[in-house]
Formats: sequence, C-alpha cells, structure tokens
Amino acid sequence: MNKVYDVGIIGGGVSGVVIALQLAEHGIENVLFEQKQNVVNGPPFCHLHAGGNLYPDISNEQCRILMKQSIEMARLFPQSIDERPTLIAVPKTENYQLGQIEDRLNMLVDYYKKLIEEDPSNEVLGTPDDYYKLYNEEDLDVLAKQSTITHPNSPDEWMTNVVKLIDFNVLKMPVILVQEYGWNLFRLGAQAQLALNKADKCTLKLNTEVENIKDVRNQNLGYNWEIITNDTTYRINYLVNSSGFRTGKFDECIDLNVERLIEFKAAYVSQWQPIEGLIPELIFHGERGTSHGMAQLTPYCEDYYQIHGMTEDITLFKNGLVKTIGSSAQPEFDENIKRKLNEGWKDDEIKDRTENAIVYIAKFIPSFASAIVGGPPLFGAQQIPGSDVTLRVGEVSFPTNFYARSEIVKASSALTVANQIIDRTKKEQIISSDLETTNKNSILDSITKNDIDKLASELAKERGYPKALSRLVIEKKR
Ligand SMILES: Cc1cc2nc3c(=O)[nH]c(=O)nc-3n(C[C@H](O)[C@H](O)[C@H](O)COP(=O)(O)OP(=O)(O)OC[C@H]3O[C@@H](n4cnc5c(N)ncnc54)[C@H](O)[C@@H]3O)c2cc1C
Repeated sequence: MNKVYDVGIIGGGVSGVVIALQLAEHGIENVLFEQKQNVVNGPPFCHLHAGGNLYPDISNEQCRILMKQSIEMARLFPQSIDERPTLIAVPKTENYQLGQIEDRLNMLVDYYKKLIEEDPSNEVLGTPDDYYKLYNEEDLDVLAKQSTITHPNSPDEWMTNVVKLIDFNVLKMPVILVQEYGWNLFRLGAQAQLALNKADKCTLKLNTEVENIKDVRNQNLGYNWEIITNDTTYRINYLVNSSGFRTGKFDECIDLNVERLIEFKAAYVSQWQPIEGLIPELIFHGERGTSHGMAQLTPYCEDYYQIHGMTEDITLFKNGLVKTIGSSAQPEFDENIKRKLNEGWKDDEIKDRTENAIVYIAKFIPSFASAIVGGPPLFGAQQIPGSDVTLRVGEVSFPTNFYARSEIVKASSALTVANQIIDRTKKEQIISSDLETTNKNSILDSITKNDIDKLASELAKERGYPKALSRLVIEKKR
C-alpha cells in the first residue's frame, strides 16, 4: 500500500466512470473501485431527458439544466444516443394543460438556441425550430392516409408510422412530437469500460468492494484517507463517494448525518409483433404513483419494446421509496426489495409485472395487447438527495475537507459533477490551480464504434438481456 493516489473513487456507475475519465484526461492520478465485474452495471437509464419533457411538474430551471447537461453528455458519448423523437400525449382524464406544456417548449427552444450560439457543437438535438411540433386532429387525419415509412426522417414521417396504432379518442389534442432522444446504457458502459482500460492515469479495480474508509486527515501521513477493500488498503488524498444508493454507508463511516431518499424502480422488456416502420418513444402523461401514472413505451431494435408505468403495480413498488431515519445516513429497503437487488427476480414476478405493463400500454395502443415478455426487467435503486421526490437534478456536495459526495438523480448530471470535483480539488490544493477544466475527453473520443458495438452486445448478453437492447434504433456512423 505504498502508492498514494490523488483521488480515490468509490463506485463505477455512470457518475464514477465520468469522474475517473475526466480526472485521467486532466492528468490526475486516480483509482476507481467497483464491486461488480464491469462498470455502469447499476440502475438502468434509457432516456436522455434533454428538456425534461417527461416531467410536466418540474420547474423550468430544472428543464433547462437537464437540457444543458444532456447535450454535454451526448457530446461525450455520441454512440449511446438514440436519435428517435418522443411523442408526448395527455390523456383526457388528466389535468395537465397543453398550453402550459407548449409555453415550456417555447422556452426550451429559446434556451437551445442560446446554447448553440455559445457553441455551435451543442446542436445535437437537430435544428432548434424543429425541436418540437404540435399535431391536432386534422393533421393526424391527413397523416393516417399516408403509407408507412420504414426509416422515417422527418417529424411527419415519424407521426405517420404511429398514427395508425394509437387510440386518439382517449387523448387531449394536440399531441406533441419532441426531439427527446433515447440513451443506451450498454453502449455508454462499453465506451466507458474501453476508455478506462486505456486511461494511464486511472487504475480500475473491478470486483473490488470497498468495505470501510478510514479518516487519517489529522495524522500528517502525507495522505488523507485509507480505503479498505476486500483485498488490500489504498492510500489516497481526495475521496469521492459515488456509490449510488449506498452513498450513506460511507457517510456513516465518517459520522456525516445526511437526509436522503432511495428509490427502487423497474422497466419491463417486451416483444411485440413486427410493425412496418420505426415508431417514436411514446409518453402518455399521468400522475405519478396513482393508478393512472405516466405510461412510457421505448422502442428498441428487433421488435423489442421497454415499458415504464408509474404505478405501484409496474415501475414503482410498495415501500419502494424510503428515507433516512434518525441519525442514519443510509435508508434501508424491506426484505422483498433487498432480495430483488441482491438475488434478482423470480420468474412469476417477471411474468406478472411485465404482463401488467403490457395491459397498461394497450389502453392507448390496443394492438399492443398481443405483446409478450421479452426478457428480464431492467431494475435498480437510485439516490435522491434531500427529501423532495420530484427532484431531477441532484449534483455534488462537499460536506467536509477532501471529500466529495456525488448524488446524481439523472445520468446526464455526471459530467457537471466530474468538473465540479476537479475544480474543488484545485481549491483544496490536491492539484495545480492552473489546470484548465475542459468538457472534452480524448480517451473517450478514441474509442471506435466497432469496439463499442462488440462490447455493448457482450455486456447485454452477460447480464441476461437480448443483444438487440445494445443497438440503436437509429444507427450512427462514426
Ligand atoms: C428503473 C430506472 C430507470 C431510470 N431511467 C433513467 C433514465 O432514463 N435516464 C436517466 O438519466 N436516469 C435514469 N435513472 C437514474 C439513473 O439510473 C441514475 O441516476 C444513475 O445510474 C446513477 O448513477 P451513479 O453512478 O450515481 O450510481 P450507480 O449507477 O448506482 O453506481 C454506483 C456504483 O457503485 C458501486 N458500489 C456501491 N457500493 C460499493 C462498494 N462498497 N464498493 C465498490 N463499489 C460499490 C455499485 O456497484 C454501482 O456500480 C433510472 C433509474 C432507475 C432505477
């Protein structure tokens, strides 16, 4: 244990890997600990959220932050972004006002223009004037008469393909097509894993569980922390806790008392009859946690579709949202959820919940009732700092010297957090304050599409999912 690392990072989820790669890009020696056999293997993500349009209840400020951070991450991991649009619809039973949604979209178009003025490379969501388009009943009637297009290219072509499938009688008008893209976790994980393997300044320790941390800041040892793992002890100067929903465990090791929520959720994998042309992501808004929570259908390749339903029978779970109690910094799930997290799901649970999800989507797309279970669910637990369950932009905090705690709520916040940590290490004189922080990452840039394709497919297979989930609906050339 002689070597002293500048930075030690606990947890190789999206946050930990981006921190490690940004530190490596800036020449900062770091060690990343991940208990699993590969990185980005925690809770799933499938939406980029570039504008927050899936969340009608969040503030305009959160929508702008989601858009900016999403663009930054899309530029870092272009091969993981699925450039298919999203249809947003409001069922007649819901209170959401379409006028308010439209006002917000106009605000986002202006903001997107501003981001492009600042840096033309930010134009990753298409031209600003095409960011969204409204469709009323007459427009849909016209499109319904058009033939299906196998590979749609324009908003009208995407709408043409889906108009024949949806029961518009149950929806308010207009419906909206917006350039909110998909995000492929297997492809992001593959690019990150390959980059970490190449990064000289990062030591990646897979299959390595951090068991404890020891605070030696006052002992004049020439380093500040000891990280105790299942095989040895590491010396480090600056500690980053990015261990996801287990963040509280390490806060407790150093007596930090923090309020937080953790939430267990799942999305279901189904297979549907082949339909002629590609369709957008479909969102039917609804009040979260009620029996009519939002329904989401995410298209993948080879007739696979992922489903979220924001009800307790589908994506959310009874006792799935828990908070810290008393002086504990780590909330605890009940035994049923712990079992799912640690041992996986029983076959009957997969069947029941996936079938519930299929019936839920069929309320809006009647022919979807013929879909079948397509694989195990994508599931996991995530952290939400504080006590506001509607928070979508959690970031980083620095509760004590030489210690950063990353608590992102959406994967898009990862780069912002990494750069904030680099700035902090400058202030705390771990690294030179002359170092200029950049969003560019040459190690990630050097990874080829072919290598990402290959590893992403292996990762999906190894984790028990169809290989098709590792591909983009809209394939990108490098
Ligand atoms: C069902 C579901 C759907 C979601 N969909 C989206 C979406 O569409 N878009 C989006 O942006 N976000 C989505 N999220 C949220 C997103 O998954 C999280 O924000 C993100 O994964 C958090 O990343 P992280 O790196 O902070 O934590 P994690 O991904 O949880 O990473 C933490 C890592 O730390 C490791 N670890 C923990 N303890 C130790 C230890 N003692 N030693 C070593 N390693 C340790 C874990 O194994 C894990 O790999 C979704 C979440 C869920 C549950």
